[in-house]
Amino acid sequence: MEQVKTEQTATRQGAGEQAIIKQTVTEQTAAGQTVTEQITAEQRIVILQDVIPTMMEWYRRTARDLPWRERPEAYRVWISEIMLQQTRIEAVKPYYDRFLKQFPGVRELAEAPEEQVLKCWEGLGYYSRARNLQKAAILCMENYGGELPASYEELKALPGIGNYTAGAVASIAYRIPVPAVDGNVLRVLSRVFADSRDISRQSIKTETEKLLLSVIPQDAPGAFNEAIMEIGETICIPNGFPLCEQCPLAARCLARERGEQELYPVKAPKKERRKEEKTILVLLCQGMAAVRKRPAKGLLAGMYELPWMSGYLSQEEIADCLQLSNASAGEVLSSISYMGAAKHIFSHVEWHMKGYMIQTEAPIPGDWEYVPIPELKEKYPIPNAFSAYTEGLL
Ligand code: SF4
Repeated sequence: MEQVKTEQTATRQGAGEQAIIKQTVTEQTAAGQTVTEQITAEQRIVILQDVIPTMMEWYRRTARDLPWRERPEAYRVWISEIMLQQTRIEAVKPYYDRFLKQFPGVRELAEAPEEQVLKCWEGLGYYSRARNLQKAAILCMENYGGELPASYEELKALPGIGNYTAGAVASIAYRIPVPAVDGNVLRVLSRVFADSRDISRQSIKTETEKLLLSVIPQDAPGAFNEAIMEIGETICIPNGFPLCEQCPLAARCLARERGEQELYPVKAPKKERRKEEKTILVLLCQGMAAVRKRPAKGLLAGMYELPWMSGYLSQEEIADCLQLSNASAGEVLSSISYMGAAKHIFSHVEWHMKGYMIQTEAPIPGDWEYVPIPELKEKYPIPNAFSAYTEGLL
């Protein structure tokens, strides 16, 4: 249950006029916490305007050296932002370098075979990001002369680019004054404003974008966006107590003033993931391993996977399914051995797996192909989900 009373007001900022929601809020949070009166949009603007100079100065002084900050060109910013979604900075760095070596610009990315792009992405997960990068690169070749468009709206129209990425590319590479609101920004501001509303709600994100649009410095929008994100990544951290004594926003932070840092941000509990049990087969035959291509749509689309069966099967059931017990196939079986259990977590589903290695003298027929193992390693994109069973192979 929640009740929100709103009234419209307007503030002027720079050349544009933004409609800002003035809130007189009586609200119950998604987590059912104590009702807290929220500060108004005008008060938020005043707080931000007050701390922006300190924050910008702090960022100029302390910004980390990151590979994508060296030459903040649109293509490079775009690739880094897509890679950084759901992935830690340290994990992204080697992938970023390798990706830019293989695909140094929009043209190279657009013209590469999809499997090469997926192979280069292997291990980063969320492979739809890689496929969308390539689709967007193709559109940039067709419509924008091989460049990313210097327009927030046109960026947003490209596959895989939402408000956040469009804002980051537009502000950092093209100096367009638009915000880039991600989880870091929402967390930091929820603490600064002691805002007990659920930050996973789209309405909060939209309201935050409008708020930042009204205060973003026209002469340094990229540095402004990066500064808030940097605070979220290094100081106002998601796990553990925030390092308020180092924070350039500390002087105006309501959560800090009240000693309530740990109450924010408020987030509705995530839905429980679906659990799927699978029996994974490592089918080996004379230096080759069996793989099959996943469908072009859905989870891990277009990637190659090890053959698997639903549920946990016993060795006898596996032998039956593969028809290893009939006379001719039985003769070719040299060994079947249990490889242990493994788990892989996707955003909405968990795979619980048990794996078996099956060595045969002749290939076992099925909806898979046998590929020489060195070739598998070089060319075939295999998702991390199978890493517990491919470790010895790849
Ligand atoms: S003062 Fe502390 S709680 Fe407030 S924004 Fe900074 S790090 Fe976060």
